[in-house]
Amino acid sequence: MDSTDFSSLDLSASLLKNLRSLGYEEMTTIQAQSLPHILAGKDVIGQGKTGSGKTAAFGLGILQKLDVKNFELQSLVLCPTRELADQVAKEIRRLARTIANIKVLTLCGGMPFGPQIGSLQHGTHIIVGTPGRIEDHLSKKTLNLGTVTTLVLDEADRMLDMGFQKSLDIILRKIPAKRQTLLFSATYPDQIQSMSKRIMLKPVLVQVNSTHPPMTTALLNNIFTKLPITKIA
Ligand code: AMP
Repeated sequence: MDSTDFSSLDLSASLLKNLRSLGYEEMTTIQAQSLPHILAGKDVIGQGKTGSGKTAAFGLGILQKLDVKNFELQSLVLCPTRELADQVAKEIRRLARTIANIKVLTLCGGMPFGPQIGSLQHGTHIIVGTPGRIEDHLSKKTLNLGTVTTLVLDEADRMLDMGFQKSLDIILRKIPAKRQTLLFSATYPDQIQSMSKRIMLKPVLVQVNSTHPPMTTALLNNIFTKLPITKIA
């Protein structure tokens, strides 16, 4: 897949129109490499840092398959920190601004439980949160993950470094096995490889070395010749 034009993707007309109005003219490398697989419903491991455009890669995947008329929780995005969760929720809301009545909720530690419980009772399509607070809601039985069809682990290496493995295991047990799992990580150490084997189904691995803005087709093609996509069978 060497096209960098968003219109080459199977995205709705309203998402494409919004991308144009946001000034997203071309896909970044990680978007061009991962979005065709994400939109095809595959599990994807994306190795890319903040600044690579990874949020829009998984955000567009979530939004394209979202059923806004269904007020059940459909996607869960886990982030290591509140700052990242806020940033991710903001980007998803920007990408979703042409979709009426969409609900994106952030659930992070350091915030009072009451308003979070109230928002959960009103129904939400997408939750972006930190593992500790999601685990707390599960133990309080204020959150049901039984309807989740897309799980995103963002900055997965940082979540493991911060000691969230146990929380992640608890959360994963509550999400249906029949789901799409997208894992993004700046690094790809053994711990991430073994976790991906446990929680993902035949993931496609997309590796992007550098952080950069959207690229010209010529530049991108040049990079593709140096960085082939590796697939894990
Ligand atoms: P991220 O790596 O997801 O934190 O994204 C870095 C920044 O790039 C964010 O401010 C995005 O809004 C922006 N961005 C993501 N994809 C594109 C694109 N295709 N064209 C222009 N800007 C983008």
